[in-house]
Amino acid sequence: MKTSRFSVLVLVAVIAVALLAERAVAQVRYEIAFPDLPGYQTLKCDFHTHSVFSDGSVWPTVRIEEAWRLGLDATALTDHIEYQPHKDDVPTNHNRPYDLVAGRALQTNMLVPRGAEITKDTPPGHFNAIFLKDVVPLANDDVLAAVKAANEQGAFVFWNHQGWKGEELGAWQDVHTVMVENKWLHGMEVCNGESYYPSAHAWCLEKNLTMLGTSDIHGPDTTERTTAARHRTMTLVFATERTLDALRDALVDGRTAVWYKDQMIGREQWLASLFQQSVRASAPHLRSKDTLWVRLHNDCEMDIQLARSGAIGPATITLPARSTSLVRFSTSGVTGPLALSYVATNFRIAPDKGLPVTITVP
Ligand SMILES: [Zn+2]
Ligand SMILES: [Zn+2]
Repeated sequence: MKTSRFSVLVLVAVIAVALLAERAVAQVRYEIAFPDLPGYQTLKCDFHTHSVFSDGSVWPTVRIEEAWRLGLDATALTDHIEYQPHKDDVPTNHNRPYDLVAGRALQTNMLVPRGAEITKDTPPGHFNAIFLKDVVPLANDDVLAAVKAANEQGAFVFWNHQGWKGEELGAWQDVHTVMVENKWLHGMEVCNGESYYPSAHAWCLEKNLTMLGTSDIHGPDTTERTTAARHRTMTLVFATERTLDALRDALVDGRTAVWYKDQMIGREQWLASLFQQSVRASAPHLRSKDTLWVRLHNDCEMDIQLARSGAIGPATITLPARSTSLVRFSTSGVTGPLALSYVATNFRIAPDKGLPVTITVP
């Protein structure tokens, strides 16, 4: 009797420990609500972060935990090659940040290309290289030699924070032309952290470079979840599938949009598709002689600002993130489906241009 009671107690204890262990491994992630586009998955990406291996203040694996928790699909450690203020404590080892996170990337199903930041004076500036095989050959005083070495490994290379030291020091130089002519420079950060660079935006359009937005985070990210009000500057990448190869192809192809503060910045083709998948109108649920009551749904993670460009509808409408808005339209006798012409003013297809949209009310 005594023994069997003891066995039961042991069994209960074992089950309790097992349940606790199960709980301990179940980590929570909140997804970021940007819809997929026809034929493409929308991957949320941040390709510019730092760790203690350069001037960041966190261990590399922390970057993977943060990115996963915040709903990102891809990230990269891009420690400075030429700047390591902690090198008395953390030895110079350019490949070590990636090697430390590769296993955790697999466990969390995050896409993590190997990366580094080529860090020269400005001009010519800083350049991130991702999808590297080995960072060491990029440690070269000559910026063109470093960028060439990255390209020889099949890397995707982009120019970081172009205007961070002012427009004059961020001016387009011959060295940038050489990079573009050799197809060694593939993109630019239009936004980095809290900064937006209109020149970079214009050059991406003019020179057919991929637009990127990154956090360039150095300290720990204490954000619990991504929201419209608090989010990293990031790149949405429209990839045919959720693999490193498809991610790279999409970047080379320029299939991106930049989520920066309350704005989405990108090429018209991708912003138009993103808008179409995010916003829809329900059929009017109440109709009188010259008034319609319609619900407008915004399924994406950002508030969308609309300004009327046609004849029907309120002059401005705000569609808050992940919400349904009730809108009353004066139709002056128009019956049947309505095509509402607006400009999505915070979907920017050029430095001073919003995205023209048509919302169809069935
Ligand atoms: Zn930099
Ligand atoms: Zn940086």
